[in-house]
Amino acid sequence: GEGVRLQKVLAQAGVASRRAAEILIDRGRVEVDGQIVTRQGMRIDPTESVVRVDGVRIVIDQDMVYLALNKPRGWQSTMSDDLGRPCIGDIVAERVMAGQRIFHVGRLDAETEGLILLTNDGELAHRLMHPSYEILKTYLATLDGRIPRNLGRILADGVELEDGPVHVDKFSVVDLGETRTMVRVVLHEGRKHIVRRLFEEVGHPVLELVRTDVGPVSLGDQRPGTLRVLRGAEVAELY
Ligand code: URA
Repeated sequence: GEGVRLQKVLAQAGVASRRAAEILIDRGRVEVDGQIVTRQGMRIDPTESVVRVDGVRIVIDQDMVYLALNKPRGWQSTMSDDLGRPCIGDIVAERVMAGQRIFHVGRLDAETEGLILLTNDGELAHRLMHPSYEILKTYLATLDGRIPRNLGRILADGVELEDGPVHVDKFSVVDLGETRTMVRVVLHEGRKHIVRRLFEEVGHPVLELVRTDVGPVSLGDQRPGTLRVLRGAEVAELY
């Protein structure tokens, strides 16, 4: 037949793997020229048709793609790795069109799991990474030991690190244990290892770290190693 299968168009646009695209179609989340399509195998002309997923127009060639990745623990935050270690580029490669340049917005340590935004919108990526933009990032950190009651106050006052003070915007205890404590911390910092260095400095090293939110975007129950396309409202709020 004529045209390209819808699930292939979705996969090439970076929305999902082909299998995941079939599921999106199945669930009625995909629209072609204003009509929800639940039938598999529909062929379209990707240069003529307007395709939307969850109401967000998807990228065909020049358009913009905005994705949320849950980076697995142990993976590098780079698009390729000279040493052949697993990197986020491996996850993205299958989902974007050949030649399409995708930027990751910032990095996480290899040992940190969690949310990284990806886009071919270089301007937005650049702006979000600029210190003056001060986008809030939320982390769930498991700390060594039982923390003192006044830790929130200490963090709010600012903690001096060797490259300058760090200010925490919000801090709360999620789970207080005898030997480890889970906390949620919000900051607008982008310095390398900032969360690990912060808690090291106050005597409670980070045992596990997960980034759950970047600005208006949340991981929710998105599993490690998966990508999802941002909703239009999320993209709008990032701007
Ligand atoms: N702070 C860290 O220490 N590590 C990260 O990956 C992100 C923030």
